Amino acid sequence: MKSVKSVVENLEVRRLERKNLWAPWRIKYIQGLNESGDCFICYNQQNPQDDDKNLVLWRTDKSIVILNRFPYNNGHLLIAPARHIPDFDKATDEELLEMLKLVRESQKALSMAIKPHGFNVGMNFGRCAGAGLPEHLHIHIVPRWDGDTNFINVCSDTDVISQSLTELLESLKQISKEYNLPAL
Ligand SMILES: [Zn+2]
Repeated sequence: MKSVKSVVENLEVRRLERKNLWAPWRIKYIQGLNESGDCFICYNQQNPQDDDKNLVLWRTDKSIVILNRFPYNNGHLLIAPARHIPDFDKATDEELLEMLKLVRESQKALSMAIKPHGFNVGMNFGRCAGAGLPEHLHIHIVPRWDGDTNFINVCSDTDVISQSLTELLESLKQISKEYNLPAL
Protein backbone atom coordinates (compact mmCIF):
# COMPACT_ATOMS: atom_id res chain seq x y z
CA MET A 1 0.00 0.00 0.00
CA LYS A 2 1.24 3.50 -0.81
CA SER A 3 2.30 5.65 2.12
CA VAL A 4 0.65 9.03 2.69
CA LYS A 5 4.03 10.62 1.98
CA SER A 6 4.31 9.02 -1.46
CA VAL A 7 0.73 9.94 -2.34
CA VAL A 8 1.42 13.57 -1.36
CA GLU A 9 4.67 13.54 -3.34
CA ASN A 10 2.88 12.18 -6.41
CA LEU A 11 0.25 14.88 -6.15
CA GLU A 12 3.00 17.47 -5.89
CA VAL A 13 4.70 16.12 -9.04
CA ARG A 14 1.40 16.21 -10.94
CA ARG A 15 0.81 19.76 -9.80
CA LEU A 16 4.28 20.79 -11.00
CA GLU A 17 3.83 18.97 -14.30
CA ARG A 18 0.55 20.76 -14.95
CA LYS A 19 2.18 24.06 -14.12
CA ASN A 20 5.05 23.36 -16.52
CA LEU A 21 2.80 22.10 -19.29
CA TRP A 22 0.79 25.30 -19.35
CA ALA A 23 3.58 27.79 -18.60
CA PRO A 24 3.74 30.21 -21.57
CA TRP A 25 7.54 30.36 -21.56
CA ARG A 26 7.70 26.60 -22.08
CA ILE A 27 5.33 26.71 -25.04
CA LYS A 28 7.57 29.32 -26.66
CA TYR A 29 10.60 27.16 -25.99
CA ILE A 30 8.92 24.17 -27.65
CA GLN A 31 7.83 26.24 -30.68
CA GLY A 32 11.35 27.64 -30.91
CA LEU A 33 12.73 24.13 -31.07
CA ASN A 34 10.41 23.29 -33.96
CA GLU A 35 11.25 26.42 -35.91
CA SER A 36 15.00 26.19 -35.63
CA GLY A 37 15.04 22.45 -36.26
CA ASP A 38 17.60 22.07 -33.46
CA CYS A 39 18.33 18.47 -32.72
CA PHE A 40 20.82 17.85 -29.92
CA ILE A 41 21.21 14.20 -30.95
CA CYS A 42 22.33 15.20 -34.48
CA TYR A 43 24.47 17.97 -33.01
CA ASN A 44 26.20 15.44 -30.76
CA GLN A 45 26.48 12.97 -33.62
CA GLN A 46 28.27 15.57 -35.76
CA ASN A 47 30.66 16.80 -33.04
CA PRO A 48 32.68 13.81 -31.80
CA GLN A 49 35.41 16.13 -30.49
CA ASP A 50 32.94 17.27 -27.81
CA ASP A 51 31.75 13.81 -26.75
CA ASP A 52 32.68 14.29 -23.08
CA LYS A 53 31.06 17.70 -22.89
CA ASN A 54 27.97 16.36 -24.67
CA LEU A 55 27.84 13.30 -22.38
CA VAL A 56 28.15 10.83 -25.25
CA LEU A 57 28.85 7.37 -23.85
CA TRP A 58 29.04 5.19 -26.97
CA ARG A 59 29.12 5.56 -30.74
CA THR A 60 28.40 2.42 -32.71
CA ASP A 61 27.96 1.68 -36.38
CA LYS A 62 24.39 3.00 -36.61
CA SER A 63 23.63 4.49 -33.20
CA ILE A 64 24.68 6.83 -30.45
CA VAL A 65 24.19 6.48 -26.66
CA ILE A 66 24.02 9.65 -24.57
CA LEU A 67 23.51 10.43 -20.88
CA ASN A 68 20.35 12.51 -20.55
CA ARG A 69 21.30 15.98 -19.33
CA PHE A 70 17.86 16.31 -17.71
CA PRO A 71 17.52 12.87 -16.12
CA TYR A 72 14.38 11.43 -14.56
CA ASN A 73 16.73 9.49 -12.34
CA ASN A 74 20.46 8.91 -11.97
CA GLY A 75 21.89 7.05 -14.98
CA HIS A 76 19.13 8.01 -17.45
CA LEU A 77 20.47 7.05 -20.91
CA LEU A 78 19.19 7.80 -24.40
CA ILE A 79 19.76 5.40 -27.29
CA ALA A 80 19.21 6.85 -30.76
CA PRO A 81 19.91 5.97 -34.37
CA ALA A 82 22.65 8.09 -35.94
CA ARG A 83 20.16 9.10 -38.63
CA HIS A 84 17.60 11.84 -37.95
CA ILE A 85 14.42 9.77 -38.21
CA PRO A 86 11.23 10.20 -36.17
CA ASP A 87 9.87 6.67 -35.81
CA PHE A 88 10.20 2.93 -36.38
CA ASP A 89 8.69 3.23 -39.85
CA LYS A 90 11.80 5.00 -41.12
CA ALA A 91 14.31 2.72 -39.37
CA THR A 92 16.03 -0.21 -41.04
CA ASP A 93 16.02 -3.68 -39.46
CA GLU A 94 19.74 -3.26 -38.73
CA GLU A 95 19.11 0.00 -36.87
CA LEU A 96 16.27 -1.51 -34.86
CA LEU A 97 18.31 -4.54 -33.90
CA GLU A 98 21.30 -2.44 -32.90
CA MET A 99 19.19 -0.17 -30.71
CA LEU A 100 17.69 -3.15 -28.92
CA LYS A 101 21.12 -4.67 -28.38
CA LEU A 102 22.22 -1.31 -26.97
CA VAL A 103 19.35 -1.48 -24.47
CA ARG A 104 20.85 -4.77 -23.26
CA GLU A 105 24.39 -3.36 -23.15
CA SER A 106 23.24 -0.18 -21.39
CA GLN A 107 21.53 -2.23 -18.70
CA LYS A 108 24.74 -4.25 -18.27
CA ALA A 109 26.91 -1.14 -17.90
CA LEU A 110 24.48 0.66 -15.59
CA SER A 111 24.04 -2.44 -13.44
CA MET A 112 27.77 -2.55 -12.83
CA ALA A 113 28.18 1.20 -12.38
CA ILE A 114 25.25 2.12 -10.13
CA LYS A 115 23.48 -1.17 -9.25
CA PRO A 116 19.84 -0.29 -9.96
CA HIS A 117 17.08 -2.60 -8.69
CA GLY A 118 15.13 -2.23 -11.93
CA PHE A 119 14.76 -0.25 -15.16
CA ASN A 120 12.12 1.61 -17.06
CA VAL A 121 12.73 1.30 -20.80
CA GLY A 122 10.45 3.38 -22.97
CA MET A 123 9.74 5.62 -25.90
CA ASN A 124 7.52 8.63 -26.56
CA PHE A 125 6.18 9.34 -30.04
CA GLY A 126 4.92 12.89 -30.56
CA ARG A 127 4.86 15.90 -28.25
CA CYS A 128 1.45 15.01 -26.88
CA ALA A 129 2.94 11.71 -25.68
CA GLY A 130 5.72 13.53 -23.85
CA ALA A 131 8.49 13.48 -26.44
CA GLY A 132 10.90 16.38 -25.89
CA LEU A 133 12.48 15.71 -29.28
CA PRO A 134 9.83 13.98 -31.45
CA GLU A 135 11.82 14.38 -34.68
CA HIS A 136 14.63 12.04 -33.66
CA LEU A 137 13.74 8.54 -32.48
CA HIS A 138 15.25 7.56 -29.11
CA ILE A 139 14.83 4.98 -26.38
CA HIS A 140 14.96 6.01 -22.71
CA ILE A 141 16.67 3.76 -20.17
CA VAL A 142 15.83 4.91 -16.65
CA PRO A 143 17.41 3.04 -13.71
CA ARG A 144 15.12 2.53 -10.69
CA TRP A 145 15.71 1.71 -7.06
CA ASP A 146 13.33 0.43 -4.43
CA GLY A 147 11.84 3.50 -2.80
CA ASP A 148 13.46 5.99 -5.19
CA THR A 149 11.82 9.37 -5.28
CA ASN A 150 10.53 11.49 -8.11
CA PHE A 151 12.80 13.34 -10.50
CA ILE A 152 11.89 16.74 -9.07
CA ASN A 153 14.07 15.92 -6.06
CA VAL A 154 16.87 14.67 -8.30
CA CYS A 155 16.83 17.77 -10.49
CA SER A 156 16.51 20.31 -7.71
CA ASP A 157 20.22 21.11 -7.67
CA THR A 158 21.62 21.52 -11.17
CA ASP A 159 25.24 21.77 -10.04
CA VAL A 160 25.13 18.49 -8.17
CA ILE A 161 23.52 16.79 -11.17
CA SER A 162 26.03 18.07 -13.72
CA GLN A 163 28.89 17.01 -11.45
CA SER A 164 27.43 13.55 -10.94
CA LEU A 165 26.75 13.24 -14.70
CA THR A 166 30.43 13.82 -15.44
CA GLU A 167 31.45 11.31 -12.78
CA LEU A 168 28.90 8.80 -13.99
CA LEU A 169 30.08 9.16 -17.60
CA GLU A 170 33.65 8.49 -16.48
CA SER A 171 32.60 5.46 -14.49
CA LEU A 172 30.53 4.05 -17.39
CA LYS A 173 33.41 4.61 -19.81
CA GLN A 174 35.79 2.83 -17.47
CA ILE A 175 33.43 -0.14 -17.17
CA SER A 176 32.93 -0.19 -20.97
CA LYS A 177 36.68 -0.42 -21.45
CA GLU A 178 37.12 -3.11 -18.83
CA TYR A 179 34.27 -5.33 -20.09
CA ASN A 180 34.43 -4.48 -23.81
CA LEU A 181 31.01 -2.88 -23.93
CA PRO A 182 28.96 -2.47 -25.99
CA ALA A 183 29.21 -6.03 -27.35
CA LEU A 184 27.00 -5.97 -30.45
ZN1 LIG B 1 18.41 14.46 -35.15
